Amino acid sequence: MIDLHCHSNCSDGSDAPDILPRLAYQAGLKALALTDHDTLDGLDVFMDQQRRVSTRLIPGIELSCEFSGRELHVLGLFVNHRDALFRERVHGLGLRRQRRNAQIFQNLSNLEINIAQEDFFNGGQLSLITRAHIADMLLNAGHAATRLEAFQKYLGEEGLAYAPFEFLSPKDAFKWIREAGGLPAIAHPGRFYDGRFVWETAMADLYNMGARAIETYYTDHSETETAYFLALCDKLSMIPTGGSDYHGSCKPGCKIGVGYGSLSVPDWVIDRCQDFLFRF
Ligand SMILES: [Zn+2]
Repeated sequence: MIDLHCHSNCSDGSDAPDILPRLAYQAGLKALALTDHDTLDGLDVFMDQQRRVSTRLIPGIELSCEFSGRELHVLGLFVNHRDALFRERVHGLGLRRQRRNAQIFQNLSNLEINIAQEDFFNGGQLSLITRAHIADMLLNAGHAATRLEAFQKYLGEEGLAYAPFEFLSPKDAFKWIREAGGLPAIAHPGRFYDGRFVWETAMADLYNMGARAIETYYTDHSETETAYFLALCDKLSMIPTGGSDYHGSCKPGCKIGVGYGSLSVPDWVIDRCQDFLFRF
């Protein structure tokens, strides 16, 4: 069993990147990829644990993109996280996010809601702040009772403090990942499999833009969805990948490797990824 999708506290997970390899080893995983959102910050510490565990550690990232008017996540697996150009590109994403956050905080301040970001993070190593974090700040400061309310009132598209995000295009995400020696995969496609999104056409379009893998085995995928995406991989000559999307205590009940209990990503997935990487 392997797990090619998890998060550390360098993005929105709760565990430090040097804890994850040990958890994977204890869970009997053959391989684990760290795929934090829009940052490579945890990877040096994560990869450094390779000398302590027999679980194979794989450097990765999860890039937030926009496709067909919706947010689409793209995983980059086996990326060279030390590649200078890739680091610079990913750093630029952080700057985009900072610009957006500054705008949100400005909008909140115009509403006379002033939150000190430093107090909230208390010196933690979080290297990017998402709207979910800002929602928690609003909760802590008593401006909303739930995360949902914080989004509805302030942070969502209809919210009073909303600021749009300059998303990366999937085409650029695929290019960046390929140029950093990695395999670009469409993350958790099941989130779009609800009748509003026709995957056969969409996935063929994404393939033409450079996507080469589909996260077929995923915590929230039903058996029907897994079978559907496996067939789609065959049809489009794409590689099935899979993972738990483990976030530690930030996603209660979801365990490394097994997700909510029934996930099992087969070992052969690694061989398929490797075949692809050797060929290119
Ligand atoms: Zn994720």
